[in-house]
Amino acid sequence: MKKQLEQKGIKPSFIRLKIYEYLVNHKTHPTADEIYSSLVLEIPTLSKTSVYNTLSLFVEKGLAQMITIEENIARFDADLSVHGHFQCKVCGKIYDFLVEKDSIESSLDQSFEVEEIYVYYKGTCPYCKNKNN
Ligand SMILES: [Zn+2]
Ligand SMILES: [Zn+2]
Repeated sequence: MKKQLEQKGIKPSFIRLKIYEYLVNHKTHPTADEIYSSLVLEIPTLSKTSVYNTLSLFVEKGLAQMITIEENIARFDADLSVHGHFQCKVCGKIYDFLVEKDSIESSLDQSFEVEEIYVYYKGTCPYCKNKNN
């Protein structure tokens, strides 16, 4: 993990490593507040600001991606592969799904250069659908 931070030109401080480790281990697309609430139990000196700053550094350096499937809520994902996000409107859970990067790009004129791809779906997850039936 230390190496992954260093490779992206990020100095691997204790807090940065802890936040990155949290993101890698929790694939639930947590918000900065969720990360803070969980890590502050372990690191009482942690501040919200340093969590926010660290996350924006990760995004800037390409170590994590920011997901804005909900208005005004930023979520974070250490999985940098191109994949779509499905959010259940009932339980709020976010699911990853495979997206063919090439098929998305081929729908756009070749003269456009794609740098970022966000695919967001919303609906009802199988678990909530079964509960309702
Ligand atoms: Zn659901
Ligand atoms: Zn994801």
